[in-house]
Amino acid sequence: MEKIVHVRPLDDAIGHEESHDCMCGPTGQGVHNSATSRMVGVIFHHHALRPCHEWEASQA
Ligand SMILES: [Zn+2]
Repeated sequence: MEKIVHVRPLDDAIGHEESHDCMCGPTGQGVHNSATSRMVGVIFHHHALRPCHEWEASQA
């Protein structure tokens, strides 16, 4: 089972959904196990609408 991690700003102007359907259009990046080259998860980096200082990485 792949892990899905969302990196979201906490103090942005909008609330970010813990979903790839979030209105900011987060970009998914695959994470691979360097030993086996198997994909082990996907990190979605959300796009802040304004400079944010507080970010949270959460596992959906
Ligand atoms: Zn978002």
